[in-house]
Amino acid sequence: MSVTPFYGPDFDFLTEQDPDIAEILLSELHRQQSDLQLIASENFTSTAVLAAMGSTLSNKYAEGYPGKRYYGGCEEVDKAEILAIERAKSLFGAEHANVQPHSGASANIAVYAAFTKPGDTVLAMSLPHGGHLTHGSKVNFSGKWFNVVSYGVRADNELIDYDELRDLAIKNKPKMICSGATAYPSLIDFEKVREICDEVGAIMWVDAAHFIGLVAGKAIPSPVPFADVVSFTTHKVLRGPRGGMILSKSDHAAAIDKAVFPGMQGGPIMSAIAGKAVALKECAQPAYQRYAESVIVNCQELAAALEKEGMRAVSGGTQTHLALIDIRSTNVNGKVADQRCGLAGIVLNKNAIPFDPESPAVTSGIRVGSAATTTQGMGKAEMREIASFIARAIATEDEAVLANIRQEVHALTARFPIYTK
Ligand SMILES: *Cc1c(COP(=O)(O)O)cnc(C)c1O
Repeated sequence: MSVTPFYGPDFDFLTEQDPDIAEILLSELHRQQSDLQLIASENFTSTAVLAAMGSTLSNKYAEGYPGKRYYGGCEEVDKAEILAIERAKSLFGAEHANVQPHSGASANIAVYAAFTKPGDTVLAMSLPHGGHLTHGSKVNFSGKWFNVVSYGVRADNELIDYDELRDLAIKNKPKMICSGATAYPSLIDFEKVREICDEVGAIMWVDAAHFIGLVAGKAIPSPVPFADVVSFTTHKVLRGPRGGMILSKSDHAAAIDKAVFPGMQGGPIMSAIAGKAVALKECAQPAYQRYAESVIVNCQELAAALEKEGMRAVSGGTQTHLALIDIRSTNVNGKVADQRCGLAGIVLNKNAIPFDPESPAVTSGIRVGSAATTTQGMGKAEMREIASFIARAIATEDEAVLANIRQEVHALTARFPIYTK
């Protein structure tokens, strides 16, 4: 069976059909190959995952669940979904898995729908301290429909303030407590969160979108034994297709499944589910475990090297794939640093640091991640080189100098090619 290629030079059929889109795909491939991808939520999936994503499974409607569909012709996609579910349960030691959520945000909507009613109180990490939009932002459904109370990090060590979390839980009696964030470089004490949930009778929800890949690679402790429900994306460190997933205790299986379909989605994206199955198989290999370990080692090296350049790693460093860097010592704000790095071919994002004196549109920090560069095969020496590129880029507004750095960046990435035949 041959698979339609959709990357690299072998897509003459697309070039003929739609040269405009073909050109964009090639340019984007080139951008991913040549610039440095340090966005902490991005990665390079395998070509096997891309093949599943670009397959005819995209054509199939399959509302419902394997064996209980509302459409005919689901024999083959049923097999794909069952494989994805079984692989997820086995990889994470979970009692139940729902592989249908279209994204991390969709998975989170389903979690709210399964366990809460509009108006209920939910305790979640504060956005300015690293929480996600779906953890109660006023512009998101979560903040509009729920009474979300936020906990944050301590000012002295920038780690989650579990005393505050417990006090807020006792005071507010939340239905559900969410742990997990998008810009928190440290590990979360799931055992402690479980104790607090038990003390107040709350559902323990872990939004593991960022770090689930490190759990899959057995590089950090798993929330699965502790949590009632764990939601996550499949496209960050996990290195799968764009999508979401939910794991839960079997007691909650029916509520989760009903919340996903028909609660908030129609038909699942079967090509993405096949891609999730492929990624989960990859994650179970020893090579992926070595990858997950290297991601953390690399990120620690990158954070340490940035500290040597005079910047400050929030919470003293990182235990994961991402680091939050306080760049106030450079006298350049996050917004300008992001722009200068971009001109130097270094793709990262500005990010608020805890208790940031700047507005969220400006910020005093940057967030860097090591998931993509580690997939490329880079190691500690390259992390040190990247730190020096970042420091030099932040320090100059001269576009010619930034263009020179970009040349050096491209020389580095050329040594670690991706998506080549
Ligand atoms: C990325 C992320 C999400 C959202 O995922 P999407 O697929 O972009 O909807 C949700 N929660 C956390 C903590 C995340 O980091």
